Amino acid sequence: MSVNTERLIKLSKSKKMGKIEMIIKKKFGKNSSTFVVGGDTFHDAVLEASKLSFGDVEKCGICASDDLFLGAHETKGEGFLFAYVRCSKCRATLNFGQQKKADVVYLRTKDDKKTLDWMKFEPNVNE
Ligand SMILES: [Zn+2]
Repeated sequence: MSVNTERLIKLSKSKKMGKIEMIIKKKFGKNSSTFVVGGDTFHDAVLEASKLSFGDVEKCGICASDDLFLGAHETKGEGFLFAYVRCSKCRATLNFGQQKKADVVYLRTKDDKKTLDWMKFEPNVNE
């Protein structure tokens, strides 16, 4: 019984109560998305907000269109989740990455770590 009680306490502690919420706006071209993150304390909320470690995306890295939207999909086999920014015009994709350990979400960059890693739409790639 004591084991069960301990597990319950752990679960309720790990559950974010969202006492302090931060609203974060990110631009994706002409569209923007609002994210609400929260924590029990101000520190927790700021820490959660910092995990969205990416800035605004002004335009498509391939065709420079600002008609961008957010998307996500799950791979069939392993059930990995992917999120991306996609260009409505040329269907180029910019993937988000996630550091598993710290839960930090970022936009993938090329080897120089600065240029966003936009990938051209390949019609023969099976999604
Ligand atoms: Zn484009």
